Amino acid sequence: MHPSNGSDETSTPAGDWPGSDQQAEETLRLALDTGRLGIWNWSIPDDRITRGGYHEQLFGLAPGSFAGSYEEFLACVHPGDREPVKREIARCLELREEYCQEYRVLWPDGTEHWIEGRARFHFDSRGQPVRMIGVVQDITPRKLMAQHQARFQALFEAAQDAVLIADDERRYVDANPAASSLFGVERENLRGRRVDEFIEDVKGDSVDYAWQNFQVEGIQRGECRLLRPDNTAHHVEYSARANFAPGLHLSILRDVTERKKAEEAVLRQTAELQQFAYVASHDLQEPLRAMVSFSQMLMKRYQGQLDQEADQFLTYITAGAHRMKNLIDSLLAYSQVSSLEPVAHAAAALETSLHCATVNLETLIRETGATVTHDELPLVKADHVQCVQLFQNLIDNAIKYRKPGLPPRIHVSAAENAREWLVSVRDNGIGIEKMHRELIFGVFKRLHGNDIPGTGIGLAICKRIIERSGGRIWVESEPGQGSTFKLAIPR
Ligand code: ADP
Repeated sequence: MHPSNGSDETSTPAGDWPGSDQQAEETLRLALDTGRLGIWNWSIPDDRITRGGYHEQLFGLAPGSFAGSYEEFLACVHPGDREPVKREIARCLELREEYCQEYRVLWPDGTEHWIEGRARFHFDSRGQPVRMIGVVQDITPRKLMAQHQARFQALFEAAQDAVLIADDERRYVDANPAASSLFGVERENLRGRRVDEFIEDVKGDSVDYAWQNFQVEGIQRGECRLLRPDNTAHHVEYSARANFAPGLHLSILRDVTERKKAEEAVLRQTAELQQFAYVASHDLQEPLRAMVSFSQMLMKRYQGQLDQEADQFLTYITAGAHRMKNLIDSLLAYSQVSSLEPVAHAAAALETSLHCATVNLETLIRETGATVTHDELPLVKADHVQCVQLFQNLIDNAIKYRKPGLPPRIHVSAAENAREWLVSVRDNGIGIEKMHRELIFGVFKRLHGNDIPGTGIGLAICKRIIERSGGRIWVESEPGQGSTFKLAIPR
């Protein structure tokens, strides 16, 4: 359209417009209907606005409810846009320019809608403005789309993860700044390059194979190796979505090289430490066995022949050597649990494991008058031998830490929720103070002196066993009222 500074008569380009008035009116109505346009005419000298087409609908007004003044029109405009609308109309009037503006209207129901208004001014022969005629159109969908696009663009630009878009040919069509720095390639230079130039070895599969799967699956997550033009390899975690728009595929990549290195270092160190603990405890056994047997021989042969103090010293040496042997045996047992690879398809019927444990503890159970009862126990994903050891440690403790004069009663029960089995081993022993309830699962952590024998490793072994099956162990207790050790085992 052209800026209009003409008078009433010369303002509309006629073109090949159809002949009769009636035809013209019908064509106009058709245009307003199909475009869902509103028209309006503001007679400036008497400040009266008349409307047609979809005008009232676009302003959310009931038909005939608009009396028609400039102020009334402004009242429909969103308060935040009122001043700009006033300013722009005044400016166009002053400069005799065509008016075109996007603004929001606030409907009586409180919703916001975007409108585009276009209009022209008409002047009389003295140059006075007589009217302003224009059209209004709802542009809300376009505005929302633009907002979405702006939001996506802001995310794309600001994301710390690399975001890339590739086409069906596996060529990058767009990449964000983070992608450029991850790939070590300028953004413009990434466009048109093929995915295979950078990505190799997706979860051990070729890129070809992974891409085919990706197209079928639609969504893919995993890890892959990224090879940069500077020949450095990076370990990358990715998630990708095929055809987020026709023929366009989105991937989000995160460099996890440093994290992987740290994880591998921890694993290596742990393995080395376990190996060390194993070798140390294993090799210490030999000289210790010699100490134990020679001190026993000394006792046998010379007890009573030396003075009383010497006899006492001999007793201390033998007891010390025994105690050290127990500690080293426990340490060895602990490092063995730690070094065993978890068995993939292991299954343990906990009732059988519990039965084996009570058989192993038969003498202790009989001598202390203990009773071990249980409810129905489940089959769980864990190693049977380790489950026996677990129950054995817990029942052994329940008996050792009994209340004087009270026969130990131990009850094992099980419950389940959506994710886990919850196995409880309850006793009627001395109980555990709140502040010690986590500490006791540490290696060599004990709450008692040598009056109750032990090495402080039993619960540490239990913890290792349960954690290797992906579970948790903790204790609930009331000092003097007994303890309940709880095991959560994934189903
Ligand atoms: P140990 O029994 O060889 O000392 P554990 O690792 O099995 O070592 O147990 C650590 C500590 O936790 C024990 O020394 C004891 O103080 C406390 N404890 C373990 N089980 C019980 C229990 N059932 N009742 C009260 N205290 C317990």
